Amino acid sequence: MAGSRFEYVKGFELPDPLLPGTFLLYRLDGHSFHRLSDVHSFQKPNDERALKLMDHAARDLMDEYTDIVVAFGESDEFSFLLRKSTTLYNRRHAKIVTTLTSYFTASYVLHWPEYFPDTPLRYPPSFDGRIVLYPSEKEVRDYFAWRQADSEHRSPSASNPYAYRHAPDSLVAAHINNLYNTVFWALVQQGEQSTKDAHEALRGTVSSQKHEILFNRFGINYNLLPERFRKGSVLVREEVKEDSDPLPSSDVESSTENPNFPDSEAKVIQRTKEKKSKKARTRTHVVLYHCDIIRDPFWNERPWLLC
Ligand code: ATP
Ligand code: ATP
Ligand code: MG
Ligand code: MG
Ligand code: MG
Ligand code: MG
Repeated sequence: MAGSRFEYVKGFELPDPLLPGTFLLYRLDGHSFHRLSDVHSFQKPNDERALKLMDHAARDLMDEYTDIVVAFGESDEFSFLLRKSTTLYNRRHAKIVTTLTSYFTASYVLHWPEYFPDTPLRYPPSFDGRIVLYPSEKEVRDYFAWRQADSEHRSPSASNPYAYRHAPDSLVAAHINNLYNTVFWALVQQGEQSTKDAHEALRGTVSSQKHEILFNRFGINYNLLPERFRKGSVLVREEVKEDSDPLPSSDVESSTENPNFPDSEAKVIQRTKEKKSKKARTRTHVVLYHCDIIRDPFWNERPWLLC
């Protein structure tokens, strides 16, 4: 083919390198998952099977692409931080976005039957993907704070990540989007309101008012809901010394929770063993948490994430 008279068309293809020395923040989001969740009868507001499937696909992606150091997911989205020194695919923008998005999608489809054994996929799910470059730690920290707080333009106080970083616990843990959905579905399912009326009732309410509605009308204490729902999923590449306990924290999701779901402790250890290089003295493995990533402790305990 080389030297053919057709080859000039190659010249139309332009390089699309990502600026060197910057953090790559890659986010994907389910395309029309409002519909996908309807068609496949997801439990509302939080279908745990669907969230665990997202976590599984995200873990697969991190096992495949070791330059991803940390990820955060909630609902139908996941964000992945690639180290700023990454040379993955020579930092070609389209190559990275398309390959990572299709890998995640393929894993989501591959593992669907494990999480939805009685609900066959009715059509192919898809995800959109994008990369944003961030110049410094500050923007990366604020990005993750933004996603976890998930302002979604629903609460004016949520639009500023700084407000969250220095806010009292109750506000930080609010996870605005999930709080909204939880009250919304309580109004619809238990309060028997129409979805239109429920949206109307919540218009302009702040977090404290939503907590009040939940507690006074439905007896739900938001702070007692599972952490997975309130805080989302955090997948971290942890460094583990060869002779130390591979699971350092009690925050790690319990392996006894449901033996059918594969993000169990045994699975983590199994995968780590598979990946372990004979030479390496320090192993890394991906651990799942449902913890706060807005304030300092998470990042201070893991300085390797932002270097
Ligand atoms: P777009 O293509 O613009 O992203 P979308 O329909 O996917 O459109 P999102 O804003 O991404 O809209 O919201 C995702 C929607 O998918 C949620 O509002 C919810 O209805 C549904 N959803 C996603 N994950 C879950 C889950 N685990 N449990 C219940 N519903 C879910
Ligand atoms: P890259 O990730 O850069 O695309 P690649 O391994 O996919 O790397 P390509 O230049 O895309 O390289 O070539 C695809 C290769 O896949 C072919 O060279 C061939 O070895 C194999 N292949 C793809 N389709 C077929 C097929 N239908 N039958 C046999 N081999 C195939
Ligand atoms: Mg969207
Ligand atoms: Mg979506
Ligand atoms: Mg979404
Ligand atoms: Mg190819």
